[in-house]
Amino acid sequence: MAQIHTTQPETQRNNSAHPDQIEDSNHETASTAIKAAALSFGADVVGIANVERWEAYAPAGYRPTDLLPGACSVVVVGARGPTAGAWRAADPRLMEVLGLDFANDRAIAALTGFIEQEYEHYAIQAPGLSVAGHQPPFSYMLAAVLSGLGTRSFAANIVLNPRFGLLYYSACITTLELPADPMLEQDVCPHPMCVQTYKHIGKTPCMAACPADEGGCLDGTIDKDGHIESVYYDRERCASRAMNFGPFVFQKAMADIVTENDSETRKAKIHSDFFARTCSGVSFYKESVAQCFECMRVCPIGRQERKLK
Ligand code: SF4
Ligand code: SF4
Repeated sequence: MAQIHTTQPETQRNNSAHPDQIEDSNHETASTAIKAAALSFGADVVGIANVERWEAYAPAGYRPTDLLPGACSVVVVGARGPTAGAWRAADPRLMEVLGLDFANDRAIAALTGFIEQEYEHYAIQAPGLSVAGHQPPFSYMLAAVLSGLGTRSFAANIVLNPRFGLLYYSACITTLELPADPMLEQDVCPHPMCVQTYKHIGKTPCMAACPADEGGCLDGTIDKDGHIESVYYDRERCASRAMNFGPFVFQKAMADIVTENDSETRKAKIHSDFFARTCSGVSFYKESVAQCFECMRVCPIGRQERKLK
């Protein structure tokens, strides 16, 4: 059991501090231990935010305190999906099955148990998937920004980490009070190279890879200081290209099959490569989560981390 005390030492008991207040040094020690544990559980990065930060950005009902009464802190982990080798695979379609093993979810599951066992404070995995309708109760992307792990980008609003670029995020909400990390002061996107590209061709590399004015999904403008001025992202169009085999697609494919009147056509649909992959994507969720990485493939952020021998 970690030595973190929820009662104050004798010398402080008569001052006006809250009786549940934990000494600052113990907060720091706990923070250091929790971050080290997160990394040992498979995270590449870890950041901490206090729950007050959500008040300015998330509506009531979608804040950590709505999900766990008495919540004080949110610990956020980020992990790489595809390996450096996967990005170099000759067939881009292989990206959808290479390395997407949810290391972030594994890390946060272990970390949640670690906090409860070691510090005897409540902890839950933040719900990043919807339990009703299509709106998840908690945004991992917002959590990543508020915990200082990254900032939003021109590419599908993906939160880019300054070191690794694209990461997959999960979060843990806890009643344990922890010191918050500073949010990033400087935007990760656009990279200086992208600003230069924009000056020359009116598009950044990600916009050029998937241009909205040529049937793609991305557009935007950069202001005179080199910052994001406006962003356009066609999420519906992107989803139809990047997420073809998930549960939602299974529902649509099933509806199409059961309402097909012609028996031969129905049989062909059931035995098609598309339906087989859709069933596989539902049964073995790891197998096929996303089918397009092209806006990230051209992004310079994190490229250094993918240079190996
Ligand atoms: S994931 Fe693919 S379809 Fe979606 S914005 Fe990026 S390049 Fe375009
Ligand atoms: S390529 Fe990457 S850094 Fe450059 S504008 Fe697009 S998302 Fe931002």
